[in-house]
Amino acid sequence: DEPEAMLELDSVRVEYGAVKAVQSVSLDVREGEVVALLGPNGAGKTSLISAIMGVVPITSGTVRFLGRDVTLASPEEKVRMGIGISPEGRRIFANLTVAENLRLGASSQPDKAIRERNQHRYLEMFPILKERFHQKAGTLSGGEQQQLAISRCLMAGPKIVMLDEPSLGLAPVIVERIFDLIAELKAARLTILLVEQNANEALAVADRAYLMHSGRLRFEGEASRLRESEDLMSHYMGLA
Ligand code: ATP
Repeated sequence: DEPEAMLELDSVRVEYGAVKAVQSVSLDVREGEVVALLGPNGAGKTSLISAIMGVVPITSGTVRFLGRDVTLASPEEKVRMGIGISPEGRRIFANLTVAENLRLGASSQPDKAIRERNQHRYLEMFPILKERFHQKAGTLSGGEQQQLAISRCLMAGPKIVMLDEPSLGLAPVIVERIFDLIAELKAARLTILLVEQNANEALAVADRAYLMHSGRLRFEGEASRLRESEDLMSHYMGLA
């Protein structure tokens, strides 16, 4: 039997006035999966995950999480239910320390023991953050800030995380490090929706993939199949 979807979108549309950013997208993410959401600039990827999170309104369609209709739930409610997001451009608080950024990420978690356990766990996984614990986040390098953004969203103990372009603007060797960390999170059985323009790396770590272009899905299936399809990749991503 197919396991039930953890996150399930049915015919989701997002419009900004006359701009149809997302046009009837249906997708699902099952527990323990890494699902890549690929597509070029402007495809609608960020709009889609912002809509899942509830930070931009859904024009029509439904979002279900753990069997519940959460289409109209607020971002705060979604965080509490277990949806985490590491936004594009990182959005860390530059004037706060690493420790303070992490504490903010954990603020929705009421249980102190769980907060402490998560902090311990993620400082082990991201040792650079332990080293820089009392430094202002703005003094960190791009790759370190990305690690902070990811671990900040993990601090709330989410059941699924949506990572929006974690490799954007990073040097190749740092990109490798970020994808290694994603592989570690996958090995720890975290469920991940990974938005990327870096298709090859994303497909190497993903189980399944969706390819988005001009607000619509153009492919869904096994990541390995998309990786091997030079036609799709060159047509929609300008790759291969
Ligand atoms: P990127 O990788 O550049 O973020 P994307 O695939 O995430 O691309 P979106 O950012 O979701 O794409 O953009 C989809 C479309 O919606 C684009 O045409 C974009 O110009 C438009 N758009 C995005 N945000 C807004 C907004 N706040 N108001 C109006 N149009 C917007």
